[in-house]
Amino acid sequence: MEKAVFNIIDNVLSKRDDICKCDKCKLDIIAIVLNNLPPKYVVTEKGELYSRVDEMEVQFGADIIKEIVKAIDIVLKSPRH
Ligand SMILES: [Zn+2]
Repeated sequence: MEKAVFNIIDNVLSKRDDICKCDKCKLDIIAIVLNNLPPKYVVTEKGELYSRVDEMEVQFGADIIKEIVKAIDIVLKSPRH
């Protein structure tokens, strides 16, 4: 699993009370985020997140957070259970 992304999502989810935090919903969110990540980001096999533009760029990029928030909204509107 994409560990780095997972950790960031955990972090964002911990600040939200309005969404289910079970593994199913988390995996849905992760799948959506990975599909929508801007092309400048790469997720390595270890689950680390890199920016192609600048490898030293902070991994907590604002556009990643944005994608996570978007993914949360999608799962929130149509939860699978
Ligand atoms: Zn759930």
